[in-house]
Amino acid sequence: MPKKIIIVGGGLAGLAACNELMKSEFDVQILEARNHPGGRASPQVNLGIPFGTGASWIHGADNNPIALVNKRSANMVSVSPEEFLFFDENGRPIPSQLIEKFNIKFDSFLRKAKKVAYEFLDVSLAQALANVIKFENFSSIELALFKAKLKYFEGYIGENYEFLSARCWDEEEAWPGDNCYLISTYQPIIQELSRNCHIELNSIVTEICIHKDNVEVITKNHVYFADAVIITLPLGVLKNSSITFNPPLPENKQKAIQNLGMGLFNITAIKFPFSFWPNESHAMFFTQFDNSSISTFFNLHHFIKEPILIGYSGGETARQLESYSDEQVIDKIMHNFQAVFGAILPEPENYVNTRWSHDPYANGSYSYYKTGSSQADRNALAESVANRLFFAGEATSLKHPATTHGAYLSGLREAENIKNIYAKK
Ligand SMILES: Cc1cc2nc3c(=O)[nH]c(=O)nc-3n(C[C@H](O)[C@H](O)[C@H](O)COP(=O)(O)OP(=O)(O)OC[C@H]3O[C@@H](n4cnc5c(N)ncnc54)[C@H](O)[C@@H]3O)c2cc1C
Repeated sequence: MPKKIIIVGGGLAGLAACNELMKSEFDVQILEARNHPGGRASPQVNLGIPFGTGASWIHGADNNPIALVNKRSANMVSVSPEEFLFFDENGRPIPSQLIEKFNIKFDSFLRKAKKVAYEFLDVSLAQALANVIKFENFSSIELALFKAKLKYFEGYIGENYEFLSARCWDEEEAWPGDNCYLISTYQPIIQELSRNCHIELNSIVTEICIHKDNVEVITKNHVYFADAVIITLPLGVLKNSSITFNPPLPENKQKAIQNLGMGLFNITAIKFPFSFWPNESHAMFFTQFDNSSISTFFNLHHFIKEPILIGYSGGETARQLESYSDEQVIDKIMHNFQAVFGAILPEPENYVNTRWSHDPYANGSYSYYKTGSSQADRNALAESVANRLFFAGEATSLKHPATTHGAYLSGLREAENIKNIYAKK
């Protein structure tokens, strides 16, 4: 009899593990709470074109394993930071030479802040930077660029720098190559990965019990038994304790779940009848907007001539905006745009506004290093329990957390672990 492996969660980690295990003699089944596979990379809406409201970028496109899954259908465009447009506090574009100069200065502050945190105590990135920067020596443009950098962190990491560990907030390996936006969305990749998998959709796992000879997995409607289980639940779901583990998870794993942070990153995309913004820019950063406004916009029009601006918000801004109605969020953006581009602007034709902290099967967007957490926490999260429970998912990835390729590779890692243990038995 082939060994039975259940995978909890049909996101990229679960799908990767399933495909890898199916290459050997295993009976593999995925239990997925949603009515479709793909997890945080899957949701999409129609904005005249298919539009991804979860993951939509390949971070580092040179032979990135997630892009290689369906190279033929993954249509992506390369985005260059040199083509980003930054507006100062008065709404004037900041010259690129000043941005380049500031970037060098800022990188050196980041290095110094990290050094201070490693030499003394882990503090927040905000505290560590305050120790190494003399803000009174900053020009108004440098202050504006500093604010833009913080907004960028909020989005990229999903949390404000007041909460990030100064020691390891950026301890990850960048995949080589450009950051690329997936015009095709992640759907072709998800379809390719799901093609041969046995996936039970609408299966919400509520309890997992380790017995002497097997593992019992309980959903709202069924009870399943397996030799081993791979758990790919998002950190946010593990944090809210909606799943009972029997016996409870080991203490170091529980501590890791608490220590690591689950960030929030939201997407607000607006389709207009025509574009009214500078088309040569790949993205625009508006430092004059107040802190509860979306101030970073990716310009899809530059790449595919669709008049769509994609607003990104993270951390505290995203949390605040989730308390607004969609209409209020759009009104606020339009009000801000009027101050920059003129009072008479076209009405949005269509829009989408995400609320990832309200998604019960994600409970946030992706993991980050909270002050006081460390790589040991990701390792503890990834550790298997009694050779029966195995853990994958972006938050367990030491080198590439918070990314699609990190999730994918973590699934392959745990499939390998299971093969090493069970293929021999
Ligand atoms: C808004 C947003 C934008 C992002 N942008 C990018 C990007 O551009 N590029 C990038 O590389 N990464 C991005 N990410 C991160 C990326 O999406 C994730 O790192 C990756 O998709 C995580 O895959 P996973 O398999 O670890 O988790 P998931 O995709 O979350 O898969 C876990 C699965 O478990 C299921 N599940 C949850 N609870 C239960 C339960 N009780 N029972 C059964 N199943 C359950 C979920 O429905 C889900 O399908 C983004 C994430 C978000 C939210």
